[in-house]
Amino acid sequence: MARKKTLIVVVGAGAAGLMAAIAAARQGPSKIKILLLDSRQKIGAKILMSGGSRCNVTHVRVTPQDYEGGPRHAVKHVLEAFTPTQTIEFFEAIGVPLVLEPTGKYFPATHSGKTVLEALLAEVERLGVMLKTGISVAEIKKTGDVFCLKGSDNHFEIAAKRVVLATGGLSYPQTGSDGAGLDIAKTLGHSIVRTTPALTPLTSTDEDWRSLSGVALDARLSFFESGKKRADRAGALLFTHFGFSGPVALDISRFVSGADPKNQFEIQASFLPSETEESLKKTWMRAIVRYPARLVRNFLTDEFSLPARFVSTFLRKTALDGSVTLKRYSTVSRGCLIHALLNCPLAVTGVMGYQKSEVTSGGVNLKEVKAATMESKIVSGLYFGGEILDVDGRIGGFNFQWAWSSGTLAGRSAAESIRRA
Ligand SMILES: Cc1cc2nc3c(=O)[nH]c(=O)nc-3n(C[C@H](O)[C@H](O)[C@H](O)COP(=O)(O)OP(=O)(O)OC[C@H]3O[C@@H](n4cnc5c(N)ncnc54)[C@H](O)[C@@H]3O)c2cc1C
Repeated sequence: MARKKTLIVVVGAGAAGLMAAIAAARQGPSKIKILLLDSRQKIGAKILMSGGSRCNVTHVRVTPQDYEGGPRHAVKHVLEAFTPTQTIEFFEAIGVPLVLEPTGKYFPATHSGKTVLEALLAEVERLGVMLKTGISVAEIKKTGDVFCLKGSDNHFEIAAKRVVLATGGLSYPQTGSDGAGLDIAKTLGHSIVRTTPALTPLTSTDEDWRSLSGVALDARLSFFESGKKRADRAGALLFTHFGFSGPVALDISRFVSGADPKNQFEIQASFLPSETEESLKKTWMRAIVRYPARLVRNFLTDEFSLPARFVSTFLRKTALDGSVTLKRYSTVSRGCLIHALLNCPLAVTGVMGYQKSEVTSGGVNLKEVKAATMESKIVSGLYFGGEILDVDGRIGGFNFQWAWSSGTLAGRSAAESIRRA
């Protein structure tokens, strides 16, 4: 490729890069030259595969508390620059109306990620952004006020006034996010907060739990490191042949993968997440009066809708007898059973890894990025957007919202700075 004078280069055409290019083109002077590069020939893999190919675009309520990583005040600033309401309006305007599901998640009305990707690409084209695929950036250097971007074998060299780095993290590397952008950011002087897989299933060698493969129930998982509770998350838990999956397992996984290897960690499950020891005791006492002859194991399945397969495994594992009637069950056994239901240790050995992680925890240190513009505090004219940054959201559309918000802010600010120059 010949050397060109381009004003803004966006590296990475995932959710954040597409939004950055669109925002820059909408914001900038009409003759602004914007080049959007991606190493993959076919782009948008994550948009296509997300949300079970339905693409959970955003959530009805997005707060900084839905994210981990960089400072919350910075996350807040970025989310406020392009809110979920603006996201919904933006997609509506480019022909993708979103529908709200009872879970609070927004999906395209077509229930297809393809619609989202096609509409973004159509908007990129309409705005005259030059999209080049199969172009992998290996090096970025700045001399004076000009950036020079090079390919790995020097087969291209591109000059730019502003660069938006939106190369994603390390999750699902087969989609193109292989960490190259993190290395580039490091070479440019940025520190990288330790990266680990997040939103990934948990592994276990416990054959009892693994034998429940296919069983799902609501649970709260609490993560303890060196005996201290550091996090808890609630939602559906799915037992699998390798361990645990489902939203709650994925949500807690960042703490498991990020645990200090020197420390001991433990996961405890509450299999009745909306109950307390007190409320369970009350329900139990009422049941003794109403159904004294009911077996304990039937009480657990009937009263709390716990799956029968789960109840028999749980009782076997905790060595508690479920074949006794409620009336004859001793106070001590009842206390033990209630405690075990609400604080059951799960033998978790680790996480599935980047190949199965929906997002990366860690990345470019957010403290080194201006939250008002997404511009680097270290290299002027360099902007960041999306998962490359040290911000990871929980399941539910939060990671795309981060990509839309930070990408938009980065692109808008890059264009605005050219307009002002
Ligand atoms: C299976 C799965 C399901 C998901 N479901 C959802 C969901 O329903 N809702 C939600 O909110 N989030 C979901 N996520 C997370 C969400 O997809 C990501 O957080 C989001 O796509 C990140 O966008 P990004 O643009 O920052 O990075 P990416 O989408 O990873 O895009 C980065 C792009 O940069 C390119 N690139 C990388 N290095 C270079 C280089 N050196 N030169 C040129 N190009 C480069 C890559 O090819 C890639 O196209 C899911 C993720 C996965 C894996």
